[in-house]
Amino acid sequence: MKRGPPSFLAGMTGEERTPTPGTSNVEMCPDCGKPFVVPTTLLDVIDEGLYLVILHCRNCDRLAVGIHEDAELEQVERACDRATAQMEAFAEVLELAQFIEDIDTFSRALRADLVLPEDF
Ligand SMILES: [Zn+2]
Repeated sequence: MKRGPPSFLAGMTGEERTPTPGTSNVEMCPDCGKPFVVPTTLLDVIDEGLYLVILHCRNCDRLAVGIHEDAELEQVERACDRATAQMEAFAEVLELAQFIEDIDTFSRALRADLVLPEDF
């Protein structure tokens, strides 16, 4: 796949300093095409409501520097909140499944008399 120069360079040189409101998808990763890009660090305030941020793709670990508007970042944050909530819910289910499995293993060990009082 042919790619142009890394976009963080473009960001640094100011070539991407004219964000078009409503058309950009900050959360879309140009590398893996997944909507997992989140702003991680605020580097600078370019202008009122315009920020230079480090963007991190949680899917492929791509790092980029971009200039984005307040509204764009808010939008990403909201999308990110939803994704995080989903991930947390998923993690809870996983945890619960692991917990049930642990209990199951434990109770089976109990039944099989594998757990002895001196184990505690
Ligand atoms: Zn990615």
